[in-house]
Amino acid sequence: MKLPEKIKEDYECGRISVHEYESKVFRFNKRQEFLEERAKEKQKNVMLRKRRIERDIENTRNTNEYLKYLEDECKRLGLNRKYKRREIATDVVQLVYEENIKKYGKLMCYLCNEPVKFGNDAVDHKIPVSRGGINDFDNLGITHSRCNSIKNSKTVEEYENYRDKNKE
Ligand SMILES: [Zn+2]
Repeated sequence: MKLPEKIKEDYECGRISVHEYESKVFRFNKRQEFLEERAKEKQKNVMLRKRRIERDIENTRNTNEYLKYLEDECKRLGLNRKYKRREIATDVVQLVYEENIKKYGKLMCYLCNEPVKFGNDAVDHKIPVSRGGINDFDNLGITHSRCNSIKNSKTVEEYENYRDKNKE
């Protein structure tokens, strides 16, 4: 971690006191730590999202393979039956939205119980994907994107403890 030349120069030329110098160095280091922490967090989120997408694709591929198998079996038995290819992940998400609106009369965040505007919404895994949660109807809930990013890789219980602690 390199200190900007400017601070060093100011100190060496006597433009700032040793106290000012130390406090500037301290603030600079704190800021660097914060930026590094944030970059790490961002990278982690990108990785989690990528893993979630990969899992969605894998689930869909498995379903398509199974449907193909059913079709082939029907053909073998001389049955003229067509199975529709379905994107399960998309269907489940659709259902989660419909059930949420049906239950509350409008879209609601299950984490903070406040209405959600479209565009600020996110689909949350109650048990996070990174902890083995799956794209199951029961494991999905609508949240604000803000609440969703605060919950991040916490379970619902961990999130509630975290929120209550930060309220005080
Ligand atoms: Zn919320």
